[in-house]
Amino acid sequence: MIPKHTTGLKGKDYSHYFLSPILQAKYERPTFQEIWESYIPERKLFPEPTGRHALWHFLELLNLEKGSEVLIQAYNFYVIVSLIVQKGLKPVFVDIESDTLCIDTQDLKRKITTKSKVILVTHMFGNPSNVNEIIEIAKQNNLILFEDCAHAVGTKHQDMQVSAIGNVPGGALFSFGVMKSVNSFGGGMLVLTNELGLAYKNNGHRVKPLTSFKDTFFRVFVSAFMNPKVYGWTLYPLSKFSVFISKFGMERLRNIVAPNKNAPRYQFAENTRAPFKAFMKHMHKSQLACMNESILKRKEIVELIKTRLKPIKQISLLNESKHGDANYSYFGIYVPDKFALSAHLKKNGIDNEPAEYYDCSALDQFSDYSAICINAKNASEHLIRLPSYQALTHTEANFISNTIISYYSSKDN
Ligand SMILES: *Cc1c(COP(=O)(O)O)cnc(C)c1O
Repeated sequence: MIPKHTTGLKGKDYSHYFLSPILQAKYERPTFQEIWESYIPERKLFPEPTGRHALWHFLELLNLEKGSEVLIQAYNFYVIVSLIVQKGLKPVFVDIESDTLCIDTQDLKRKITTKSKVILVTHMFGNPSNVNEIIEIAKQNNLILFEDCAHAVGTKHQDMQVSAIGNVPGGALFSFGVMKSVNSFGGGMLVLTNELGLAYKNNGHRVKPLTSFKDTFFRVFVSAFMNPKVYGWTLYPLSKFSVFISKFGMERLRNIVAPNKNAPRYQFAENTRAPFKAFMKHMHKSQLACMNESILKRKEIVELIKTRLKPIKQISLLNESKHGDANYSYFGIYVPDKFALSAHLKKNGIDNEPAEYYDCSALDQFSDYSAICINAKNASEHLIRLPSYQALTHTEANFISNTIISYYSSKDN
């Protein structure tokens, strides 16, 4: 089975985890800031337990008046919208560009009101947003800018890592979960512009030692099971099983191996995840060192599949690098019936992700803020994510392409 995602981790990365109890002192240096600052210069960088903690802490730092408006793209990870609502703020949904999955700046301008305080952009799938225009809009309207860079390590705009551009007050989040392109078995980062960075106090993170241990430990295993050699008989059946038992209220396993794509009652809780651990930054260091190479490999795979699929009239492709250099961390295509294609691919041993991000402006739990976002709705209904990681061989990429091509040449599809 070809996994939908696999990590680029090497033995050395795992050894950071296993050696961390005995090499505690050695892991003190370099500091987190030192490891990241050559990629994200002139910013204050803080380790966080997860990406969502980074956003939560950012919103706490801003301490906005209740009911303040956060402009946010509709095609999004539901958790991000939930956090905004939970903080008493009002999400104002903005449509996306079909070809990048990032915020549409024309619609963004239309949605600004006197209550607007923050623009929250997502560099979706690692595709850079229209950064220049967004910065201009933020400056003209005195808005704070927050960038969701969960997919965007190595994503560039004018040769700079996104999240470090322009002199608009704000910040960014990064996530180092098991499905992300830099994986440290969990962890996140909060990036802040200078003034906000000076004001930020991370009050530490209190979880029970056993919770912390289990949280990281399970992620080590999930990462190992993503290896293409074992995926088909480990993680793939395990995630099916976890989805099955979650129907009977046992949700723990599922939260780790097959996180919910939409949980209407989700509430953020500060102390349920492991804190950022010192060994994690060493995993970042080694993965950052080969980041450019990984991006080039992913780009080659994506270009290969896109070239093969281009002639198929039922398929539309994205323009990943429209506003800069995408990192190709995720790869999606538009198809008429994504669930039918998804089932066909799985039958042929190709795992995939048919439904991960939604048009949040149309989700029930956000009905108080509902909006009509045509492109987000279209992405929600028709975009399917295919495997695209750096370990994918050309033979596998051609197999994926052939399987899709033959599917659409049958006149029934
Ligand atoms: C993964 C992800 C996050 C945050 O992830 P955590 O699980 O909290 O580390 C934020 N936004 C997007 C789009 C994501 O995919």
